Amino acid sequence: MSECGFIGLGRMGGAMARRLIEAGHGVVAFDVSATACDALAVRGASIASSARAVTDSVPVVFLSLPNPQVVVDTMLGEQGAIDGNRLEVCVDLSTSGPEAAIKLAVVLAERNIASLEAPVSGGVKGAREGTLSLMVSGPQTAWQRVRPLLEIFGRPFFMGETAGAGQTMKLVNNLLGACAIAITAEGMTIGVKAGLDPVRMIDVLNVSSGRSSATLDKWPRAVLPRTFDFGFAAGLCLKDVRLCLAAARALGVPLGVGTAVCELLERTVHTWGAESDFTAMTKIVESDAGLDPERLPP
Ligand code: NAD
Repeated sequence: MSECGFIGLGRMGGAMARRLIEAGHGVVAFDVSATACDALAVRGASIASSARAVTDSVPVVFLSLPNPQVVVDTMLGEQGAIDGNRLEVCVDLSTSGPEAAIKLAVVLAERNIASLEAPVSGGVKGAREGTLSLMVSGPQTAWQRVRPLLEIFGRPFFMGETAGAGQTMKLVNNLLGACAIAITAEGMTIGVKAGLDPVRMIDVLNVSSGRSSATLDKWPRAVLPRTFDFGFAAGLCLKDVRLCLAAARALGVPLGVGTAVCELLERTVHTWGAESDFTAMTKIVESDAGLDPERLPP
């Protein structure tokens, strides 16, 4: 069993690092949050004093960080993990977008360090249960080397050696996921205002052509019970959709629907906060329709 590093022990990273430990691997971990570090230390991880201290001790490091700026700063900034004595492979599990992935790949390659991107889908539940999908790209040799570790997190799909490929795949996925929530919120609000029973509506949609990850998963778990706690922050979802709009712009692909969803997410973050769940998009649609989202029955 190998020793690996893990930087970023939040909702996703904490659960994935735990799976590595449970599979018998040694984990040297770091997070700026002492609480996140303590939660993994009790599971048997060694906690390092910095990101750089992680890559001074292990050759393979996983990152699960909030956004591309934090990823780039952690790896390439002052006292960056790139300078760790033992670093050979960096695997970015965060949703960082293709631009950051290309930058990392170029700079790490100059130091003979392989950069793999492996953004994930499947939420906190998938991270806990090892049922994530992972969209991997980067050098073949590094992919072969870390593949058994990635399989502890779920099902990895190799998208090729081109830097940015895995991140692009992930942004497309998240655009579709966010759009499904937005359009389901609109459809469900039409039904509720027309007097339909929302539970019955979801039953019908889930065996009809309108079904999606929103109707199958988000509504039953977080919207119908009015808990809005599916597990993905609206601020992170907004970051992903913005990254997708930027990637689409660079490719000359106009995103009419994506732009509307981005605006809905901006309003969600403005009204309910960046830490609110992305399913809170629904409450904006309900308010616009003259409903009081706080008074709708579960
Ligand atoms: P999170 O906010 O729960 O966790 C991020 C962690 O990074 C926090 O513990 C934070 O303290 C830590 N951190 C921030 N800056 C740091 C730094 N400079 N050095 C070390 N640690 C630092 O976020 P999350 O939900 O776990 O998401 C992590 C990544 O995974 C994001 O890129 C997100 O878009 C992606 N993602 C999340 C989900 C989900 O359902 N939550 C699903 C798929 C992908």
